[in-house]
Amino acid sequence: TTITRFAPSPTGMLHIGGARTALFNYLFARRNQGKFLLRIEDTDKARSTQEAVDAILDGMSWLGLNADEPPVFQSAQAGRHVECAEEMVAKGRAFRCYATPEELQARRDEGEAARAAAKQEGVGEDERQALLRKAEDLLAPFRSPWRDGGEAPAPDAPYTIRLRAPDDGQIFVKDGVQGDVKVAAREIDDLILLRADGSPTYMLAVVVDDHDMGVTHVIRGDDHLRNTFRQIPIYQAMDWDVPHFSHVPMIHGDDGAKLSKRHGALSTTAYRDMGYLPEAINSYLLRLGWSHGDEEIFTLGSAADVFSIEAINRSPARLDIAKLNDVNAHFIRACDDTKLLSLLLPWLEEAKGGPLDETIQQRIAEALPSMKDRGATLPELAEAFRFLWSANTDNLNKKARKALSGDNLNRLSELRQAIANVAEWRDTALQQALQSYCAANELSFGQVGPPVRAALTGGLPAPDLAPVMEWLGRTETLARIDFHLA
Ligand code: GLU
Repeated sequence: TTITRFAPSPTGMLHIGGARTALFNYLFARRNQGKFLLRIEDTDKARSTQEAVDAILDGMSWLGLNADEPPVFQSAQAGRHVECAEEMVAKGRAFRCYATPEELQARRDEGEAARAAAKQEGVGEDERQALLRKAEDLLAPFRSPWRDGGEAPAPDAPYTIRLRAPDDGQIFVKDGVQGDVKVAAREIDDLILLRADGSPTYMLAVVVDDHDMGVTHVIRGDDHLRNTFRQIPIYQAMDWDVPHFSHVPMIHGDDGAKLSKRHGALSTTAYRDMGYLPEAINSYLLRLGWSHGDEEIFTLGSAADVFSIEAINRSPARLDIAKLNDVNAHFIRACDDTKLLSLLLPWLEEAKGGPLDETIQQRIAEALPSMKDRGATLPELAEAFRFLWSANTDNLNKKARKALSGDNLNRLSELRQAIANVAEWRDTALQQALQSYCAANELSFGQVGPPVRAALTGGLPAPDLAPVMEWLGRTETLARIDFHLA
């Protein structure tokens, strides 16, 4: 069976790039009736925090990207990592290396010095070539002098366990996104598997955990492609099957530069805090760098039916907030009334600056079905309801003031009479009353509408007059008109 995983390091928020990686892994597992697993890569104790773990779990559950099993914590597997390193030593695929960090540094320094010396003026050509060869040698991927079973320099000298890196041939990756990629084996060093303090390195931990979790497909950011070349020899040293890799291009900002704070929010939950719906984030992130015909809108369910790695783009995706807003507007319109109302409630309270009493809640609930297209985000939509609790009388703009002056007030007064006794306070009946009044007085709606609108909404954006009157109710409608006639 197909097993994918998302393996974040808990050193901060759930980045939207990470969310997209999680989404791809989730969808690929669903598409293949497989499993989607979560591994928290918390081996860097100094940088990993519980808050970051919580933030990642919170972000994933908000997006509905639920793993099929409880998360694996990488730090808890350290014993197993050590066991695998020792197994590789026993098989001769890894070895104990007694080179100290100081010796390794001295080697690098010597290499740098030779390279610098080669550039000096007055160095003869032969000498220059010799210096360059020496530099290349010393700065080349490390081949440890202990790889062929050298003795320890002292009985209890500290050692690291290093992989015996392959010397010949090439390391191939048949990447699901990048195609066939390879490096010369010589470019990989005898990498450390266990540090001198016995702690496993990241390279070892990832390979062992992916194997132990049964991961068949690794989908991750293309910033990990170089790591993959170093991880494959570890699989080979353990005689394990190498999973199928796909390295997904990063998300860039709208200017094409690597995504950073100045392009807008980086954390997934920051989008929740700005009033985006998780369905919209998923749909948008999915389409960012993956395509399926002209289809723009997906749910987790509909995407799971068609997701494929082959359709992931090879070039970096660009974050486009205008597009995200369109997608969010779509999901707001598609949202069920009751659910949308509960999502809006905190934003409405924030807009009003306090709790909404029952009457206002009632008006909002009535208006909601025809108001859904009035905002791309929840706060924008909440703002569109303002006229339902405010007649805006303290803030009348010039246009509204003009509409409420002179002759217009007589019309407003007459119109009040015309609607006051409408039998059924419904938009159709109210619309009819407005039309009859216009017809009887040979007025156009353009002459009557503005004063009524100004009285009812004080210039705030609002839909058609008749439904506005219906939502406000008879008492409130007449009271708002009377305020300006007094
Ligand atoms: N922990 C790594 C990261 O957060 C991901 C490793 C992987 O996916 O293999 O970048």
